[in-house]
Amino acid sequence: MAKQSRDDLKSEMHTDFSLPPIHMWGDYEAQMNWLEQLDITAYDFPYTEPLLKVSYDDWKKHATDLSELDGVSWFITNHIGEVLSSDLDPELALEEVAQLSREAINKCLDLQSSVIVKSTQGIWLASPVVTREHSETFAVIGCYMNGIEASSVAQMLVRAAAQHFRSCFYKKFETLFVSDLLNIQKQAKREEHRRSMLFQVVQKLHDKIDVDSVITEVFERIEEMYPEGKLELLMSQDHPSRNPRVKSLQLQGQEPEDYMCVRAFMEGRMLRKDNISDTGETLIEIAVPLIGKQSVYGVFHMIILQEGIEEIDLQLIGMLADTAGTAFENAKLYEQSNILISELRLINELTKRLNQSLKLKEVFKFANEELLSIFNAEFCCITQIDEESDIFEIVSCNVPSLSREIFPKDYGFAGLVFSTREPIILSDYKAYGNVTSRLMDETDSRSMIAAPLIVRGEVNGAIILAHRSQRFFSYENYKLLQVLASHIGLAIANASLHAEVRKMANRDMLTGLYARHYLDDAIQNFQKSDVNGSLIIVDIDQFKQVNDTFGHQIGDKILKQVCAIVRGAIRKSDVPARWGGEELAIYLPGADVDKGYQIAENIRRRVGMETEPHVTVSCGIAEWKHEDDRVSVETLFYQADMALYRAKNNGRDQTQIG
Ligand code: GH3
Ligand code: MG
Ligand code: MG
Repeated sequence: MAKQSRDDLKSEMHTDFSLPPIHMWGDYEAQMNWLEQLDITAYDFPYTEPLLKVSYDDWKKHATDLSELDGVSWFITNHIGEVLSSDLDPELALEEVAQLSREAINKCLDLQSSVIVKSTQGIWLASPVVTREHSETFAVIGCYMNGIEASSVAQMLVRAAAQHFRSCFYKKFETLFVSDLLNIQKQAKREEHRRSMLFQVVQKLHDKIDVDSVITEVFERIEEMYPEGKLELLMSQDHPSRNPRVKSLQLQGQEPEDYMCVRAFMEGRMLRKDNISDTGETLIEIAVPLIGKQSVYGVFHMIILQEGIEEIDLQLIGMLADTAGTAFENAKLYEQSNILISELRLINELTKRLNQSLKLKEVFKFANEELLSIFNAEFCCITQIDEESDIFEIVSCNVPSLSREIFPKDYGFAGLVFSTREPIILSDYKAYGNVTSRLMDETDSRSMIAAPLIVRGEVNGAIILAHRSQRFFSYENYKLLQVLASHIGLAIANASLHAEVRKMANRDMLTGLYARHYLDDAIQNFQKSDVNGSLIIVDIDQFKQVNDTFGHQIGDKILKQVCAIVRGAIRKSDVPARWGGEELAIYLPGADVDKGYQIAENIRRRVGMETEPHVTVSCGIAEWKHEDDRVSVETLFYQADMALYRAKNNGRDQTQIG
């Protein structure tokens, strides 16, 4: 009842006067001083009037002996005689009432004592209501008694009424301030709790260096303060969190509840909406951005019953979200710099080890193993394009059925990487369905990341990593693979350049056959492990004349034709070389002289038939055997050369055995 009257008072007054200023909260002495200064006789005290009205009603209720006396109508005025409440009979002539009651009131105020004014039918009585301390009049209570003569009894009656009314007034006044005091105390306690909570949160949040614990801390704190609230955090970027209430913010979301969060995110400020629940209660919905200096990271979304929260709490949540935003950003930057450092270390290690080997095969194998372990992937596949045949080959793969397999250049994810030159990240192969991939099908993989291998500015292959779980690879993984792929590309470029240089050093430029030093080394090696082998020396007959007749260019062409015939007539394991100007030497490992003779004759016959302009060749053969006295490259060449010499002397276009 008291609470309701107080609320009525407040609404009537349209002021927040009932509480001491906020800086006094919690300071008992200051509050008491403040109260003392509020002298009830200070006429401008805005509480007096409404309090008088409420007290008057109260008095009437309690003093029924007086207030309900037959033929008696009461009224109350303020300190300047304005009637605040009255139950005068409306049937009394208005003018007379106005005039006589005013006379009584004015007299009473002038004399500061109770007065009687006679009218035709009765009497008007008025008595001042004075303050307890200084006996100043702050109200006048009075009545009209119908059909009663003026008497001292009547006057005593109204004085008693004034006394009683004053008690009622002070009781109300005290109740009001005691309840205010209690309220202040309660508010002060809450405020203190809020402040200490905020202080703790700020301290704790700034101690955190990982993003997830910043978020967990905020959740725990808000939960502790508002256990009935429903809180979730919507993140704008993929943020893997153990907390199920961390979700992703759908910026394109069409749902109305998403819309409020999206707006809070876009505008970077707290938004609030009041909704009515199914049970008719008011629910407050707020969206507070998680915002740092560099960016907005997400939005806290909270729904809570209106009763569970005050305006000041909303401010507190806003402050908390601000602190969380800064702490989150710091933690994120710290995490990112750690990731960067470890990535740099990784790249450094990887390139160092990749460059230890200059053999392509080893580079691929090593890259495959490293990538599997860096990304915790289950499958890794490295492909290389063969430009001439428009296909790609799987050069390294930990799925045996795919190793060394060949595919058309536009097949699968590697094909997509070749055509777009772009990396790929796929969270679920099954849901995607646009590309068929044997790697994904055969391994039952769902997630995949792929990056192009760029060698000397050209896409030369692709790296694909796969895993059977969905959403296995993060965006960071995808970016890192791109970086690593460029380093692997460099290692491949180095290794293939090296291989090319090696090949060039061992080959004769004009004919494409091996160079003489390579043949010498090869024979020497064979002689260490084999039991025998043959050497054929082929020399074009009268080549000087051919050159003289057709010119050197045609001469070169004929030389190439002869070389092509030689290549076609021997096995893969045989070693053909250009020994001198127009002299070729072919070593046949493990072949005896008869076998050598057959091959030499085959070459000689084919040269005679297939060269254009037509030339012939002479061949000399020699064989070495394990049991020979002296086994050496020089001896072998010497014997073959001798045989060739005989062939020349014998009229050319023939084969002689040394
Ligand atoms: P034969 O061996 O039958 O005794 O007579 P030949 O004329 O071939 O003898 P020789 O060995 O004296 O001459 C070799 C000639 O081969 C000299 C040179 O004109 C030619 N020759 C050597 N190397 C090349 C080459 O790379 N290109 C061309 N076009 N000619 C070459
Ligand atoms: Mg010669
Ligand atoms: Mg010759």
